[in-house]
Amino acid sequence: MKFQNVMEDYVTQKLDEIIDNLDCCKCDQCREDIISYALNRLAPKYVSTEKGRAFAKVNTMSSQFEVDILTAIYEGVAVVKKNPRHKKAAE
Ligand SMILES: [Zn+2]
Repeated sequence: MKFQNVMEDYVTQKLDEIIDNLDCCKCDQCREDIISYALNRLAPKYVSTEKGRAFAKVNTMSSQFEVDILTAIYEGVAVVKKNPRHKKAAE
């Protein structure tokens, strides 16, 4: 059986929505670091099927939930900005 953490979907989706407005590096390395940071701050939500995945999506998009995700992303951005792991040459 394969489990999926739907929180990954939410965080990736949210970051894509707001990244253009963020004052931070948008390279793959930094994006992944921001997502990992946010995921570590948020409680995971596991589902075992695609159906569960769709249901979880509909069921959890309350505004408080969205605020929690945004807060975790902003914290991740601040951390990554301070200490980026990408190679300077790639900038
Ligand atoms: Zn970067």
